[in-house]
Amino acid sequence: DPSALEVSQDPLSQRLAQVFGYRAFRDGQREVIERVCAGEDCLVIMPTGGGKSMCYQLPALLMEGLTLVVSPLISLMKDQVDSLLQTGVAAAYLNSSQPREQSLEVLRQLRFGELKLLYVSPERLLRPDFIERLQSLPLAMFAIDEAHCISQWGHDFRPEYAALGQLKQYFPHVPLMALTATADQATRASICERLGITPYSLLASFDRPNIRYTVAEKLNAANQLRQFITAQKGNSGIIYCSSRRRVDEVAERLRQQGFNAGAYHAGMTQEERATVQDGFLKDRLDIVVATVAFGMGINKSNVRYVVHYDIPKSVEAYYQETGRAGRDGLDAEAFMLFDPADIGRVRHLIEQSEPGPQQQVEFHKLNSMAAFAEAQTCRRQVLLHYFDESALEPCGNCDICLDPPKRYDGSQDAQKVLSCIYRLGQRFGINHVIEVLRGAKAAPVLDRGHDKLTTWGIGKDKSHEYWLSVIRQLIHLGLASQDISRGSAIRLNPAARPVLRGELVLMLAEPRIQLITGKRRTSQ
Ligand code: ADP
Ligand code: ZN
Repeated sequence: DPSALEVSQDPLSQRLAQVFGYRAFRDGQREVIERVCAGEDCLVIMPTGGGKSMCYQLPALLMEGLTLVVSPLISLMKDQVDSLLQTGVAAAYLNSSQPREQSLEVLRQLRFGELKLLYVSPERLLRPDFIERLQSLPLAMFAIDEAHCISQWGHDFRPEYAALGQLKQYFPHVPLMALTATADQATRASICERLGITPYSLLASFDRPNIRYTVAEKLNAANQLRQFITAQKGNSGIIYCSSRRRVDEVAERLRQQGFNAGAYHAGMTQEERATVQDGFLKDRLDIVVATVAFGMGINKSNVRYVVHYDIPKSVEAYYQETGRAGRDGLDAEAFMLFDPADIGRVRHLIEQSEPGPQQQVEFHKLNSMAAFAEAQTCRRQVLLHYFDESALEPCGNCDICLDPPKRYDGSQDAQKVLSCIYRLGQRFGINHVIEVLRGAKAAPVLDRGHDKLTTWGIGKDKSHEYWLSVIRQLIHLGLASQDISRGSAIRLNPAARPVLRGELVLMLAEPRIQLITGKRRTSQ
């Protein structure tokens, strides 16, 4: 077998096999390893699970001197070092949480050159006494993991990372590798600028073909969630919510419905959180309902689904969070419930913040996320384009591809809604309009005599969810607006006139209420 011969002749592949037991490099690993061994700075952008660690672990063994790995997460450091020690690589970590004797021992090993890899937190690395210590040692390179933390464009800015910009000044000749799983064009540029490098860049593919993306209009979130999880039959999953209060609510409701669910957010004690995390990792707990505090560094390969109960903060965050599903390469689901009103709510929050560059960043992120959620084209294409990756063909494994949005002549239903809004004096919110349309006999309707209106009950043949979706589309199309300053009352815009007069055919999208089940194309 000639390829086997080739492998055995190539020293890099030999080391990969000998030390780590892998037969071949993954996409991009070899190029990065060769570049850094030649002394070049590198920027490595690979999706989570893509094999970033190997890009510095193998060179660390091949190069002269010590490799420093900067990592923001103490738990992750320990895991990595443990597995390196198991494969016989001399590695250690230094951080603020370890006992003093342990850190003294690490410093001793350092002095005697007994270590190949040392993991440190950024603040530990940049302590002046430690920098001084390093300046007297032979150094192979610096690897900066989760490098997006240095950038305000990233989804997880950490001030202690910003100081890493000093490294190139202290150690101009030591190659520097920045690694991250999430970085759009702006984040990439900002990482390089802040670190002061013009690196060789590796951009691995971000596609996760085994994840099926679905965005459903949020109409009756509790039912939609229940339906989705029931179909999952006890699989492991994560449900992200935007607030602690919501996390508690949803977790409690799921437990009442008989699901095996735990909650996780920063308002809980360390122990409570550890118990939930551990239960999830060891498959004692099927579901974790969480804020974004949960997940970074969670290494669980059989997460079968990730639900976004509320809109994520940005496309990067969405990609990162959904990326926790299906690390084992088997089919997995990313399911998002989308309420267009959330966009307005978040926009309103941002408007209240201090004007300046950070505010612009937030607006940009929100707009990108809104564009993703509202897209009528293949979700994967939108996502990959966001990361500047070309994707020429629709994927066949997202809700849009599997069940393309259908259009229908919605002129009559639009007229019903618009005239109902008009009869109500343009002074009532969405729910009241729907109540009247559907002929409800609820007190707020009867008390105001709205059951006497000619539009009362003209829409009783359709569901609440249906009318909600139609009204949202009318708002989206500019025919009506919601007046935030007047209790979210809906009013008509001039564009509504031709529709009301029957002069215009209005095509609407069929509401995407149902879940798609059992239509999966197998991912290859
Ligand atoms: P990342 O840091 O990019 O999320 P890791 O470095 O943790 O990913 O790698 C993910 C998994 O892939 C690990 O279990 C790692 O051992 C494995 N891996 C890395 N490189 C290879 C390779 N060339 N062949 C097979 N498995 C690999
Ligand atoms: Zn698609």
